[in-house]
Amino acid sequence: MSPTWRQVLYRAYALGHSAKVGDHAPELFARERWQVCIARPSRDLTLRLARRMECIACGEPIAPNGTGDHIVARSLWAAPEGAENYLPLCQPHNSSKGRKNLLAWWHGKGLPPAGLVPDPLLQFARVTYAYVARNTLADMDAPADVVEALEALELALLPSVEHVTVLRQAAIDQAAAARKGGA
Ligand SMILES: [Zn+2]
Repeated sequence: MSPTWRQVLYRAYALGHSAKVGDHAPELFARERWQVCIARPSRDLTLRLARRMECIACGEPIAPNGTGDHIVARSLWAAPEGAENYLPLCQPHNSSKGRKNLLAWWHGKGLPPAGLVPDPLLQFARVTYAYVARNTLADMDAPADVVEALEALELALLPSVEHVTVLRQAAIDQAAAARKGGA
């Protein structure tokens, strides 16, 4: 069965979080309450990304008047408008990403998985979750290119295939619990 948006975003959040705390223990995946964490805005995270004056894809400095890019394209219906939707990207990478999903675009370009963690991935999970929840997509299947990109990211960032399996099962369990709880 293909994973839903909710499962995909829980997995992305968990990957970002485990990279942030430097812990990949399977217990961590089972313990964290992603449905709570992912829906909680983080001012610190937003500020850290806003102050990062170089492109997350290539390291080029971003001009002070540069616009950066948006995690969820503003042209999409009900895209989040706030500063939390900001992503530090240089002009060429901004143009290249366009309306594409961040994970699918990153993977398609062959950019290094480590460049996404922890902050861009955590913010991606939060902002995209807000977007899919607002559009009642949370329990719909996620697009195949996004799932493929996430799977590649999991294999690159986690220490073993066993960790990947535990993470995916934990996301399925927590998504089911969140649906039951009406989250
Ligand atoms: Zn760049």
